[in-house]
Amino acid sequence: MVKAVAVVTVSDTCFKDHSKDTSGPTLAKFAKELFPNANLHTIIIPDEKEIIEKELKYFCDEANVDLVLTTGGTGLGIRDVTPEATKAVIHREVPAIPIALTLESLKQTPMAMLSRSIAGVRGQTFIINFPGSKKAVKELIEVVRPVLSHAISLIKNELAEVKSIHDTMQFGCSHHCISSNVDISKVAFRPRESPYPMLEMTDAFKIVDDVMTQCTEQLEIVPIEDGLGRVVAQTVFAKEPMPPFPASVKDGYACLSLDGAGIRRVRSALTAGDAPTQPLMSGECARINTGASLPSGADCVVQVEDTKLISASEDGQTEIDVEIMVAPQPNQDVRPIGFDIPMGSTLADKGDVLDAGQIGVLAGAGYQNITVKAHPKIALLSTGNELQEPSDLHLRPAHIRDSNRIMLKVLLKEHGFQSINCGIARDEPSALVAAVSNALKQADILICTGGVSMGERDLLKPVLVKDFGATLHFGRVRMKPGKPSTFATCVFAGKTKFIFALPGNPVSAYVCCNLFVMRALRVCSGLAPDWVHFNVKLSHPVRLDARPEYARASIQVADDGLPTAKLLGSQCSSRLLSACGAAVLLELPAATDDVQSLPTGSVVKALVTGRLYHTAPM
Ligand code: AMP
Ligand code: MG
Repeated sequence: MVKAVAVVTVSDTCFKDHSKDTSGPTLAKFAKELFPNANLHTIIIPDEKEIIEKELKYFCDEANVDLVLTTGGTGLGIRDVTPEATKAVIHREVPAIPIALTLESLKQTPMAMLSRSIAGVRGQTFIINFPGSKKAVKELIEVVRPVLSHAISLIKNELAEVKSIHDTMQFGCSHHCISSNVDISKVAFRPRESPYPMLEMTDAFKIVDDVMTQCTEQLEIVPIEDGLGRVVAQTVFAKEPMPPFPASVKDGYACLSLDGAGIRRVRSALTAGDAPTQPLMSGECARINTGASLPSGADCVVQVEDTKLISASEDGQTEIDVEIMVAPQPNQDVRPIGFDIPMGSTLADKGDVLDAGQIGVLAGAGYQNITVKAHPKIALLSTGNELQEPSDLHLRPAHIRDSNRIMLKVLLKEHGFQSINCGIARDEPSALVAAVSNALKQADILICTGGVSMGERDLLKPVLVKDFGATLHFGRVRMKPGKPSTFATCVFAGKTKFIFALPGNPVSAYVCCNLFVMRALRVCSGLAPDWVHFNVKLSHPVRLDARPEYARASIQVADDGLPTAKLLGSQCSSRLLSACGAAVLLELPAATDDVQSLPTGSVVKALVTGRLYHTAPM
């Protein structure tokens, strides 16, 4: 159980100007996400060895934090001394962590050879140095993520936790202890027809909706600026009125309306932010700016355009008398207290989806944090013997780069969901068991791609059933692309986990993530399951498939203001180019004996899955 984490930014620059620190907040966000119940300490200190040592000792020995993540000061600069300070305080070094970090960084830049990060243990605290760049921090966090909890349990000698991790995962002791109950030796006798019933889309959607209601409704408190798109979990009321004082709407003169038109003595000048000290008396006015507080006694503002200067000091610095040309009305150009937001009114209602306007309202009302429906933790895993990392420069024979993981990662990100990268698993039962275990340990929802169709190396379904005791809610759906889409649940380490095993063809993965996974995520984050959709006209004829098809299309708005849709080229399930620039998925009906194609102008349903915008001519 991780009780406290410290994030220490070591940087002279950030110490002088805290706003320059971007790596510290990145680490802090990660720590909060990984250990949501832990206390989080953050500090920024200069590149001074004694200070770094002192703070590390404080966090280890006095604050008793379980994990200290430092960022900065690991390079070759004269003032870079974080590794020296860390080395001076740790009791045991953990050298494989810097090796793993360096290996990962080397994929990005040879400069990684110049990093001198250290990781080690002091007492019961784990300390890891990260470099100072935010980009590096973001990449390297993913390297240590899978081992952190387990490492901390080991350091703290939490035997029960360690044992449960070993037992439940059969993973973490060493890879050779992982075994699978799936026998792949009798390839000749594998089924030649899918044993899974073919579900209609509506049934598959209903299953997703029903099953996902088990996704426990947890709440979390987030800073309002991280709240975009999140669902408000508790109604927020205005604890103060807006504006909190009677405020001028114009640049002009605050007056007493009873005085009518005529000459006034200019008593004072109030710009926005000035607190008026004297009450205004009859016959007086106060020069005032938009947003400034009216002095007591004043009940209206006369805009400067409706006034005339009568007398001023010789140097022109002081107005003495002005004439009010138009008799003002009470409350003229004044926002009374609570005009925009009365005290006690609702600022954000339970179920609202936070947007920029609402976040601004909350900021104006003094709220820094808001309680929202928690997002589930999502893991992404690719499977396939042919896959290489997208960052690999050279492809081995018969290999391809994994495009699904990053595509799904950004698809989720576009909808506000973070994900955990669980890498690529080989099409071997034990490798799949290890990879799925590793993913389920970290996440509530696992999205994996590949290995769900009829090939002898399509092993995910049997592995889920035989090794994880999973219930397959569906394993085949009447749709194109994505027929072998699989949705399963299992209990892992005492918790229900939700698994979307999508076909590996990139377009199938794209479409099925949009259709099934996004739907599931909406259900468990408190939104209605269905897509926003509208009807569109086809701008060209479309041939129908025997299965209902989800075609990627762009949208144009015709001169009559009605949207028309154009399919993005060949809809072959391996051709991800058909998803580039897709604003919608068109729900095309299955062909019938009578209707084999739809003519231009046919009206079809478009599910809004992408962004709607006009591209500028280049
Ligand atoms: P599978 O679903 O594993 O049978 O794979 C179907 C097709 O998708 C094959 O051509 C795979 O090579 C390809 N594929 C599988 N996974 C990925 C991936 N992560 N990125 C790109 N292509 C993939
Ligand atoms: Mg495969």
